[in-house]
Amino acid sequence: MEAKFYSTIDGQVHCGLCPHRCHISDGKKGICQVRKNDGGKLYSLNYGVVSAMALDPIEKKPLYHFHPGSYIFSIGSVGCNFRCLFCQNYSIAQVKGNGWTESFPVIPPQVILQKAQEAVAQGNIGVAYTYNEPTVWFEYMYNIAERVSEAGLKNVMVSNGYIEAIPLDYLLPLMDAFNIDLKGYSNSFYKRMLGGTIEPVRNTLKAIVRAGKHLEVTYLVIPYENDNPARFREVAIWISEILGPDTVLHVNRYYPSYMLDTPATPLKTLLELYAVAKEHLNNVYIGNTGMAEYNNTYCPKCGKLVVERHGMHGNPVGLTNDGRCSGCGSQIM
Ligand code: SF4
Repeated sequence: MEAKFYSTIDGQVHCGLCPHRCHISDGKKGICQVRKNDGGKLYSLNYGVVSAMALDPIEKKPLYHFHPGSYIFSIGSVGCNFRCLFCQNYSIAQVKGNGWTESFPVIPPQVILQKAQEAVAQGNIGVAYTYNEPTVWFEYMYNIAERVSEAGLKNVMVSNGYIEAIPLDYLLPLMDAFNIDLKGYSNSFYKRMLGGTIEPVRNTLKAIVRAGKHLEVTYLVIPYENDNPARFREVAIWISEILGPDTVLHVNRYYPSYMLDTPATPLKTLLELYAVAKEHLNNVYIGNTGMAEYNNTYCPKCGKLVVERHGMHGNPVGLTNDGRCSGCGSQIM
């Protein structure tokens, strides 16, 4: 499938999908490894390639304030525009060569819609683009999202936020909710740990809020790398002041993976950063620990338990159909 968002100058392709803005010579691929210059045209190599497919609880994305207790038909492919040393999904995200192309099925967009519609009877509300980085699957995601939206179902994107403004503008009208990773507080972290820059991610977060779409932010806490409480406070203040104090923040525990063998984040660190975030934000959760009390949703006004969570599953025990606390009527979601 020919890719979108590129120009060709003297046979070299200039990709404009993500802020890397790769210049790709004939026969070569971009940093994401899934977009290739073939004779001066850019092709999406992973169009339709589905590496994983599951009906997940919406809480698993994680989205805690978007249809809690529901399910979402989740799909992923291969490739990523970051090179996170701590990648949790490296087997599908950090692909090289062409071996993967024959490992996974190629599924037309209409079949994904059909599967999503069949799963409505089991509580499915739509399709989530997740597992690897969906930005580098743009054309396929877009073609599915159009169909999903027309069918009256929801589109959810789980992303690192490293996407250029123009492609994001194409996606925003189709997407209903986003979970975006904010992986650190500095450009040096982004450069050293994953080969990107932080400003484009901040711009994506702002654009999502400007578009009025549901946004939750995930911050993976890696010992010694991005766990300084004072610097983390800057993140919490930025989110509160720029995105709004009701923005949902997931403070997640890191586990050793891929090229990083630093031991898992101590619970003490997570609790400390949680307390920092709570000084500036109304909706903060600690993920990847199984600590139930930090995953429930309580009404910020009257303290009533409104969504109880066990593992990945949410149970809206005190929430009205229009997202209010059933005790005091405060708007929560
Ligand atoms: S999407 Fe891929 S090819 Fe395009 S700029 Fe980003 S990393 Fe490079």
